Amino acid sequence: MTPTRPQAEVLIVGAGPAGLSMACALADAGIASCVLEAAPLAALADPAEDGREIALTHAGMAVLQALGQWQDLPLEEIAPLKRAHVFNGEGRDYLGFDAEGTGREQLGSLVANHWLRRVAYQGALKRADLITLRADTRVSQLSLGADLAHLTLADGERLSAPLVIAADSRFSATRRQAGIGAQMRDFGRSVLVCRLRHSQPNQGIALECFHYGHTLALLPLNGNCSSLVLTLPADRANAMMQWDEAQFMDWVRTEVRGRLGDLTLASPRHLYPLVATYAHRFACARLALIGDAAVGMHPVTAHGYNFGLYGVQTLAQLLAQAHRGGQDLGDAALLERYASAHRRKTWPIYQGTNAVEKLFTDDRPAARLLRRGVLQVAQHLPPLKSAITAQLTGRQPALLRQLQSLVQMR
Ligand SMILES: Cc1cc2nc3c(=O)[nH]c(=O)nc-3n(C[C@H](O)[C@H](O)[C@H](O)COP(=O)(O)OP(=O)(O)OC[C@H]3O[C@@H](n4cnc5c(N)ncnc54)[C@H](O)[C@@H]3O)c2cc1C
Repeated sequence: MTPTRPQAEVLIVGAGPAGLSMACALADAGIASCVLEAAPLAALADPAEDGREIALTHAGMAVLQALGQWQDLPLEEIAPLKRAHVFNGEGRDYLGFDAEGTGREQLGSLVANHWLRRVAYQGALKRADLITLRADTRVSQLSLGADLAHLTLADGERLSAPLVIAADSRFSATRRQAGIGAQMRDFGRSVLVCRLRHSQPNQGIALECFHYGHTLALLPLNGNCSSLVLTLPADRANAMMQWDEAQFMDWVRTEVRGRLGDLTLASPRHLYPLVATYAHRFACARLALIGDAAVGMHPVTAHGYNFGLYGVQTLAQLLAQAHRGGQDLGDAALLERYASAHRRKTWPIYQGTNAVEKLFTDDRPAARLLRRGVLQVAQHLPPLKSAITAQLTGRQPALLRQLQSLVQMR
């Protein structure tokens, strides 16, 4: 292992996309960090396909551009998300979203998660003078002192720095060791994801179908492919993972209802349990939480990694300022500024996403009626639609600004 040169001012737990992007942003501000990751180096250098296709907002893409990671993505790995159609139950009507009136050509872009992880790792390699990456290194203990934070590794080695940043997933052990709890919502459901190839073009349109009993989304990828995202009760999802390809594809064809022509399976199937988390605090003296360790989203509104990137940007800007002024990077008041800014950005969407999930997975007759009503109201109430579109495109209409200021006042 290469020793930390210069001495790391920040220790980052977890080299997922959030942890690595944080290290890159800090290096760009001249701050040296050491990233500690339990997984082996090969898993970082050549991340395996994991079935996740990440919908990125314009603001998320801008952060990746600023870090130089966007430029490292091969063009064919970036798929435009032009429109989204939301269907309810068996109905043929849909609620449509597009970027019209926002000054953007598309709502966002889709990139496979393993590509985002790959370019984050490459970004860290390019900044090797200020980033020490230690793979195969599990952090087992955190303690926060008055002047320094200390990490104990699984082999007993101890590291210290003015600040620790936890980026160790939604089940963050570092968060827990700091005595920070989290609101956790286990939906009892799982997400099954895989790629489908189809005979008709998807035209860059995402289809979100809230069927009774399960939710089916088709996210547009390049080359006549789409990502199938199935959300269903965990026991049914487990059973479906055991089906052979023929049985699975028969079921998928019935559910997709001929929308994209002939369908074939184009990747392995992957399963993710659905648990949303929201940390009670995002920071305290000498510790900040980022990525899923701060906010672990339900994927239905596609905000998880986008939130991770917004957090990286906000925290890096504050730390860069403090670094220039020779201030203590672990200062509680400084970190609290990050925490409150990140809470303002994420809390309304976290709550809104969980509410959407609750309503659209409740199949009782009253809820079905309400679902239909909600979609009809949204379709005929342009300000509501544009508020949702603005979340993706980053162009904020008056309604959204008012909602945000209400949240800030609370
Ligand atoms: C099916 C699905 C679809 C999604 N779709 C979208 C989408 O469309 N848009 C979007 O923005 N987001 C989406 N997301 C969310 C997105 O994938 C996550 O927000 C993002 O990957 C989280 O990155 P992270 O770096 O915070 O955490 P992780 O990727 O979980 O990385 C955490 C890292 O910490 C390491 N670690 C943990 N504990 C320790 C320890 N003790 N010591 C050392 N290392 C440790 C782990 O090994 C891991 O490498 C989706 C998620 C899923 C499951």
